[in-house]
Amino acid sequence: MEAKLIDGKEIARKTRMEIAEKVLKLKDEGITPGLAVILVGNNQASKLYVKNKEKACKELGLNSFMIEYPESLSEKELLDKISELNQDNKVHGILVQLPLPSHIEEKKIIEAITPSKDVDGFHPISIGRMMTGQDTFYPCTPYGIMVMLKEMDIEPAGKHVVVVGRSNIVGKPAGQLFLNENATVTYCHSRTKDLKQFTKQADIIVSAVGKANFITADHVSQGAVVIDVGMNRDENGKLCGDVSFDEVKEKAGFITPVPGGVGPMTITMLMYNTMKAASNASKMQHA
Ligand code: NDP
Repeated sequence: MEAKLIDGKEIARKTRMEIAEKVLKLKDEGITPGLAVILVGNNQASKLYVKNKEKACKELGLNSFMIEYPESLSEKELLDKISELNQDNKVHGILVQLPLPSHIEEKKIIEAITPSKDVDGFHPISIGRMMTGQDTFYPCTPYGIMVMLKEMDIEPAGKHVVVVGRSNIVGKPAGQLFLNENATVTYCHSRTKDLKQFTKQADIIVSAVGKANFITADHVSQGAVVIDVGMNRDENGKLCGDVSFDEVKEKAGFITPVPGGVGPMTITMLMYNTMKAASNASKMQHA
């Protein structure tokens, strides 16, 4: 039997409607959630991501403050801007689009964002809170995966989740969120020997590698849930994930497509985090 499709586009649409309603309520209280997005340099992919974030803000009724700098911007100038945004009460979320030019230290920049506005969830304080099960901003891509599974009534507790990829923005936090939901988690990466041996034991596979056709039917056990985070180009330049979709869908129980799977959820959760940051700020005001 063919796998059930996890329709990220549809789940994102529904989640966005819920966020928009909460934004309306905040507006009634006199607060319009605001997201500042900083782009440094001319990376075309980054420009597109930033544009999409601005569009999503507009659609959901959030204010977006787009700040663009040339490649030559100094680290000090960027730190000064972040410090100013940290103080600005119209700005509830601050996002610095990565990657940054090599003369700017990403770690320093991420750590300069005040944790209460860290809507990307990359600050070490946010990550520490996530690890210790405290309320915080979760990184948007892994958070989007959890929301998708919830919508599909796929319960992670007791399941064996194999996460392929261990980046700080996707793989590691994805595994942590599954652990928080009582799954048993295995991380695999480029130094893992015999990857298939692990993935074949998985109830849920999360692939965040960045290689087209990396996960084939041989990696997957009958009925497994396959979450494809990858965003790659195939030999014809077409957007594709890490998973060999046509063959894996014949074996998996559930599968996310690319495009239309995890991708639409990422920006949605960024909007959610920004709304939540504004809501937190409002509660502080009224406390
Ligand atoms: P990184 O390049 O930072 O991480 C890739 C991970 O894959 C690393 O941990 C690496 O291991 C691992 N890896 C590489 N080769 C192998 C291998 N042969 N076997 C097992 N593991 C391997 O990428 P990101 O996490 O940033 O992104 C992953 C993919 O997800 C990309 O395609 C990216 O475009 C996409 N993405 C999609 C998003 C969305 O919204 N849909 C959001 C963010 C990313 P090691 O650590 O040992 O090097």
